[in-house]
Amino acid sequence: MNAHQRLLRSLAASPRLSEWAAATRVLDGRPFDLRGHRYLRKIYDDTQPLLVIRKAAQMGASEYAISRALHFCITHGGTCIYYFPTDNDVGEFSRARFGPAVRASRYFSALVRDTDTAGYKQIGPKGAIYFRGTNSRIRMKSVPADFLVFDEVNEMLPASVELARKRLGHSKWGWELEVSTPSLPEYGIDAAYLATDQQSYLLACPGCGGYHCLEDEFLEHHGDPADPRTEICFVKGEPGRETLVCLGCGHALDPADGRWVARYPSRPRRGYHVTKFISSVVSQAEKSDGCHTKPAALLKLWRETKFPGEFFNSELGLPYLGAEGGLTEAELLALAGKYGRPPKGKACVMGVDQGNGLHVVIKEPHDDRGIVLTILVHHEPQTDPTFSHLDHLMETYDVRYCVIDALPNTHAARAFAKRFPGRVWCAYYGGTQKGAATWGFDAESTRMVTVNRTEALDAWRDAYKLKKRRIPRVEDEVTEYVRQMTNVLRKIEEDRETGQKKAVWVQRGPDHFAHADSYAEIALRRQSLGLVRGSLLG
Ligand SMILES: [Zn+2]
Repeated sequence: MNAHQRLLRSLAASPRLSEWAAATRVLDGRPFDLRGHRYLRKIYDDTQPLLVIRKAAQMGASEYAISRALHFCITHGGTCIYYFPTDNDVGEFSRARFGPAVRASRYFSALVRDTDTAGYKQIGPKGAIYFRGTNSRIRMKSVPADFLVFDEVNEMLPASVELARKRLGHSKWGWELEVSTPSLPEYGIDAAYLATDQQSYLLACPGCGGYHCLEDEFLEHHGDPADPRTEICFVKGEPGRETLVCLGCGHALDPADGRWVARYPSRPRRGYHVTKFISSVVSQAEKSDGCHTKPAALLKLWRETKFPGEFFNSELGLPYLGAEGGLTEAELLALAGKYGRPPKGKACVMGVDQGNGLHVVIKEPHDDRGIVLTILVHHEPQTDPTFSHLDHLMETYDVRYCVIDALPNTHAARAFAKRFPGRVWCAYYGGTQKGAATWGFDAESTRMVTVNRTEALDAWRDAYKLKKRRIPRVEDEVTEYVRQMTNVLRKIEEDRETGQKKAVWVQRGPDHFAHADSYAEIALRRQSLGLVRGSLLG
């Protein structure tokens, strides 16, 4: 037995995942270590068979999951199925991460063998890993498993996850690891975490000796979506060099100096919550934005984000539910200005909803503070086959970006769009794409935008909740505009077959002005993309 073989044998027996990973894994050309990720050490060395990690984005949890899977296969000789949401994710992972990770390490090169079966690797003498999308059409009915890893479980259908669990039926180990960024409260990874002992990484204060749970403090001070969001309670210091501070005594906190504490120590399942506030890794992009510490970068993001939900999920690792319901009349009346309808406008955006004629909302571009004024609301009860009465609004208010509902009169909407090339987009509600809007052309080369209805209405609602919008003096048609703006309500629906939960907006009365307003918001977004006004041939 040579030295390398001896190393393999001794490592294979090493029970500590952190030591094993440090000795065997190579990341980005360097031996793996936990510097900058001290919070991961306890997670690495946790030998609990059932583990849940509710996490912010990019906190090293996926690397951990793959380390644990390999270690399991080598030390236990069992079979692991490593699930991603889709087969595409599997391909991407194999090409960009797993392949290079194996090639970079002499240890793994000797132990991992490719097979003829796609996404199936033999690991050591007895172990095996299957990489699969939960939506996979590759048949693998007969494969039993000893360890299931669900990477980004919140993007998987709950029914698929349940089905996958049946593979553990005959295993003497029956291990499970769920890792994900959360989305909605009590759904997916959040529901799984809530059923565990709920460990949080508490930071120690050298000043007063207290311990701090940053996510609890954040929720306590900033949990309201209407929060003005100019500060984070525990982030203080010189701009760009802010650090974490103790809310008790003001002493600086070291994000690396903490300990894991369980909220419910007697529960058998182990769960970890990982927030970005305990990371000390500052990216190049963050540095070039003038942020020299992680808290400074997070504070900047918090001040600037238009999507508080995204901040909660990806930075804090917390679930987020925007204020239930939609906008209230009181909220809108508080945003009413003293101005009426101006006779003309400059560089405006326009949204048009079809149904019971046409409903039109025109807004001025952002001012320096990001405030946008609605300057015209209009109901046109009768329409003609080409929507010709919209033309004078386009001219009078110098509309540069208009988004119009494409249905039901698609022909008329197209005719209107063709009269104003590069300035009008026909909108279709899609709903499955990521992000609120996707821009392109339809089969007849008319500009179109596909809108994720929920995301678009969420962003629409948030703009008002954050007090970034103003509406005209409430008189005439504005009265009806206000009423219709409160007729869309947000709620959570559960799919009875799959158990998947998602947010939807439903109407409780006429809501044309709300959609026209949301279309104007999408036009505004197009404007702020900073794109030059479409091609002249458009
Ligand atoms: Zn203190």
